[in-house]
Amino acid sequence: MTNYPNMLAPLDLGFTTLKNRVLMGSMHTGLEETKDWNRVAEFYAERARGEVALMVTGGIGPNLEGSVLPGAAMMTTDKDVENHAIVTQRVHDNGGKIAMQILHAGRYAYGPMCVAPSPVKSPISPFPPAELDEEGIEKQISDIVNCATLAQKAGYDGVEIMGSEGYFLNQFLVIHTNKREDRWGGSYENRMRLPVEVVRRVREAVGTDFIIIYRLSMIDLVPNGSTFDEVVQLAKAIEAAGATIINTGIGWHEARIPTIATSVPRAAFAWVTKKLMGQVSIPVITSNRINTPEVAEEVLSTGCADMVSMARPMLADAHFVAKAMAGKADHIAPCIACNQACLDHTFSGKLSSCLVNPRACAETELVVEPSGVVKSVAVVGAGPAGLAAAMTARERGHAVTLIDRASEIGGQLNMAKQVPGKEEFWGLVDWFRTMVDDMGVDVRLETEATVEMLSGFDEVIIATGVLPRDPEIPGQDGANVHSYIDVLRKNAVPGKRVAVIGAGGIGFDVSEFLVHEGESPTENLPEWMTEWGVTDPAEHRGGLAPEGPQPEAPARAVTLLQRKAEKHGKRLGKTTGWIHRSALKMKDVEFVGGVNYERIDEQGLHVSFGEARENPTLIEVDDIVMCAGQIPARGLAEALDAAGVSHHIIGGADVAAELDAKRAIDQGTRLAATL
Ligand code: NAP
Ligand code: SF4
Repeated sequence: MTNYPNMLAPLDLGFTTLKNRVLMGSMHTGLEETKDWNRVAEFYAERARGEVALMVTGGIGPNLEGSVLPGAAMMTTDKDVENHAIVTQRVHDNGGKIAMQILHAGRYAYGPMCVAPSPVKSPISPFPPAELDEEGIEKQISDIVNCATLAQKAGYDGVEIMGSEGYFLNQFLVIHTNKREDRWGGSYENRMRLPVEVVRRVREAVGTDFIIIYRLSMIDLVPNGSTFDEVVQLAKAIEAAGATIINTGIGWHEARIPTIATSVPRAAFAWVTKKLMGQVSIPVITSNRINTPEVAEEVLSTGCADMVSMARPMLADAHFVAKAMAGKADHIAPCIACNQACLDHTFSGKLSSCLVNPRACAETELVVEPSGVVKSVAVVGAGPAGLAAAMTARERGHAVTLIDRASEIGGQLNMAKQVPGKEEFWGLVDWFRTMVDDMGVDVRLETEATVEMLSGFDEVIIATGVLPRDPEIPGQDGANVHSYIDVLRKNAVPGKRVAVIGAGGIGFDVSEFLVHEGESPTENLPEWMTEWGVTDPAEHRGGLAPEGPQPEAPARAVTLLQRKAEKHGKRLGKTTGWIHRSALKMKDVEFVGGVNYERIDEQGLHVSFGEARENPTLIEVDDIVMCAGQIPARGLAEALDAAGVSHHIIGGADVAAELDAKRAIDQGTRLAATL
C-alpha cells in the first residue's frame, strides 16, 4: 500500500497511458545547446529510470526569430531530428516518455530579429520586437507546425506548446502586448485566435496518437492580464482544437511577484489550476513549488489537478518517483527552490546543475563509482561540504567517520533555516541526517577533532567552515553589538531599531529575520498573497490585487549598511536578488551604501561617507549586528600541516569568499568522487 495513491495512479490518455501523475516540467538547462547529445540523452534517461511518467525538454525554437537567444537549440532540420533521436531512443530504452517543448519567445527573444503581435518592447529585453504582418503570422504558425512534425519524426511522444509565462502566444492574448486591429487583435476571440490556430494546425499535422500539451497562463500576474473567464474560454478552445493535456503556467517573466523562489509557499498556485478543473474534459496539470511526494499527493487528492508538474525537484533527485514508489520518500534529495545552480546558471549563460545534486546535468562527467579499495576516511565538519564529501565517499564504499564539535549536523544550514522564507533548509538538513545514518557514516557529534585522532586515517578531509570576519570597528565590544551567529541562533534578541553591518547574503538574511515576527508568510498562503498583492484572477485581471502589496508592519526598524557605493544586493542570485531587495523594501528596511564605520557607542553606529569621510552621521539604533563576511576556519588544517598529516581542504575552510552551499557541496562531492 503506497502513501501516494493519487500520485502513482496511471493516467490513460486513450492512445497511450502515463504510468503515474508526475510530469517533469520543462527546464532550460543549457544541455541541448552543448550539442553533446550523449550528455543530453543521459540526463533524460536517468530521469526515465527514476520512473517519472513524462518529461518535457527545455524550450526548443521553431525558427531563428522565435528562439530565446542566438545559438539556442532549434528543431528545424533533418540533422536536428537525428540528434534528438539519440535522446528519445535512450529515454524509450529506459522505459520513459518524453515530449519536446516548442518555445517561441516572441518579444522575449533576446536578439534583434524578435517578432511580436505589436511593437511593444519587453521590460526584460533591450530588443524592440518587429510587428508581424499577416504573412509573418502565417510563417510563425507553419514554423511551429513544422517543428512539431520534426519532433514527431525524432521519436518524441509529444510536444508541449509553450503558451504561457509571457512568451509569443501569450503576448497575443492580452491588450498590453497586442494592439492589433486585424483578425489577430481587438476582441478576445481575435486575440486567442493564434494559440488556438497553432494547436489546431499542429494536431492536423501530427495525427491523433501524439501528445499535445498546451501550457496555458492561468494567472498572468501582470497589469491588464487575462481574467479567469478568458482563461476558461481559451482552455475550452484549446481542448476543441485538439490538445491532449493542459499544463499550468504561472506569471509572466516580467511579473514582479515571485512564483517559484524558495520564499513562495509550497503549491502556492494549485488553487488557480483547481478553478479550471471540471471546465475542460482533458487532463489538467498544476505546477510551481511542488517539491515532495506529500505535497503532490495533497494537491491531487484535493482535486486541484489531474497531474503535477515538477521541474527543479527532478534536478535535485532524478529518482524522485522511484523513491516514492519504494516507500523511501525521506531519501529524496529535496529541491530547496534556491535557483542557485539551475536558473541562476541559465541566466548567466552557464549550464544548469543543482545545489543539492551536483551530478544533475553532469551525468556523464561526474561519475561516482565503487572505489575498488576501501579506505578509512575522516571528514571534519558536518556542514554542506563535509556532508557531501562523507556521503559520496561512503557511496563509493569507503569507511567514513564524520566529526563535528556541534551537537547537530548541518553547519551553517542550521542558521539559514531560521530565516523566514528559507524554511526549505529544514528539509535539506533532515535529508542529510537521514542519508548519513542510512548509509552507515560513523557520525561523531560534540567531538573535537585532534591531530592525534586523525593521524591513523587513510584520507583526511577538512571541512571546518568559516569564522566571522572581524570588521575592527571601534566600540564593537559593546553589549549592543552581536554577530549574525548569535542572532540567527537566537542567543541575542536585538531591540526595535537595528543596524546591520554588511549587505551580503547573510546581511540580507539577517535583515529578513529581524523584520519578521510570528509565522512566516511562506508558511501561510493567504498572508503571503496579501503581502505580495496576489488575488483571484476571477476578481481582478491577471490576479493582481488593486491595492498592491500589503505586507505586515515590520517587527523592527532595520538599516542595512555596506561600504560599497553599488546597489544593495547586486551580487545576490541573478533570479532571486530582486525578490530579496523587494521583500526588504516592503518592510521599510533602509539601504545605506558608501559608508565608513567610524565607531559604535551606546547611542548607536557612527558612520561617514566617501573617501574623504564626510558627512558624519549617527544611526541611532538599539543594536548592531555584524554580517561583515567570513574567513576560513583553518586552525585544525594548520595543526595537521605542522604535524605532517596530509589532508584535503574543502568548502569555506578552503576559500571563504563568496562561499555558498552550492560550491561547498560541489567541491565535497567532486573530491570524494576521486578518493
Ligand atoms: P559576503 O557576501 O561576502 O558579504 C559580506 C559583506 O560584508 C559585504 O556586504 C561587504 O560589503 C561587507 N564587508 C566585507 N568586509 C568588511 C569589513 N572589513 N568591514 C565591514 N564590512 C565588510 O558574505 P556573507 O554575507 O557573509 O555571505 C557569505 C556567503 O553566503 C555569500 O557568498 C553569500 O552569497 C552566501 N549566502 C547567500 C545567500 C543567498 O541569498 N543566496 C544567503 C546567505 C548567504 P562592503 O565591503 O561593501 O562593506
Ligand atoms: Fe532546486 Fe536549488 Fe537545485 Fe535549482 S539548484 S534544482 S532550485 S535545489
